[in-house]
Amino acid sequence: MESIHILLYYRYVQIEDPMRFCKEHLALCNHLGLRGRILVAKEGMNGSVSGTKEQVAAYKQAVHADARFAGMPFKEDIGVSHPFKKMVVKVKPVILNMGADVTLENTGTHLKPDEFLHLYETDKDMVVVDARNDYEWRVGKFKNAVTLPIKTFRDFPKVALQELAPYKNKKIVMYCTGGIRCEKASAYLKENGFQDVSQIDGGILTFGKQYPDTIWEGTCFVFDRRMVSNINTEHTPLTVCEICTRPCDLYRNCSHSTCDAYCVVCIDCEQSHGGCCSKACFVEMQTKAMRNSIF
Ligand SMILES: [Zn+2]
Ligand SMILES: [Zn+2]
Repeated sequence: MESIHILLYYRYVQIEDPMRFCKEHLALCNHLGLRGRILVAKEGMNGSVSGTKEQVAAYKQAVHADARFAGMPFKEDIGVSHPFKKMVVKVKPVILNMGADVTLENTGTHLKPDEFLHLYETDKDMVVVDARNDYEWRVGKFKNAVTLPIKTFRDFPKVALQELAPYKNKKIVMYCTGGIRCEKASAYLKENGFQDVSQIDGGILTFGKQYPDTIWEGTCFVFDRRMVSNINTEHTPLTVCEICTRPCDLYRNCSHSTCDAYCVVCIDCEQSHGGCCSKACFVEMQTKAMRNSIF
């Protein structure tokens, strides 16, 4: 089977006419036969697409040919199947909603993976901050990172100011999956009195490609059908199956349509519980199905 290449990328750059850009970009993606999900706004583009090696190579070339996206870094992963159902390009007011406005010029200093690793190993005073949601860091994070109890990035501003208050005068290095959230999150911290804020350039995925099996524990949550992307060659799950409590970090959505919760469920329990997050959901789903078959 031919392997599928998955690209993840973003750039904050002014797009004058997002509607028109969106239309043309969708035509380009369809022409190349890609699948994926791309957000376009006046502030830039944020996307992930998948295709064969040739298809994504042609896409990268086409995107780089547009001066606004010249040299834009693409994070690239290889999988066995498409992590997207179809190709969607959408216009949004912003490409990333933090729930607070920032001036992107205030974004934190970008650290290359080697600079970050060096600091991590030598600067014991540095505070590593995970800017992601709780269901993401639960299955993997940098060892000793400070994590935030947030369910959505829109909660970052309020929660970060509370939780990170003790570190206002410390050297902070923050990270997220691919870097896009930290561009805004680091600016937000700086605009709110934090003295020394940096971010990992290209996020976890870029770091993981260069330094697997070092200071990352667990796996990396991703927002497509794969649910996770491995950083290390081997890893011990940080979480357990919510049904049988054996070590496991396989995420799925509960099959019970009214629940649909993100849950960690092992392959055995997925089969025995019909893809549900719990026994309760499984029983409810079966009862519903039975009722529907009777009436
Ligand atoms: Zn289980
Ligand atoms: Zn459920």
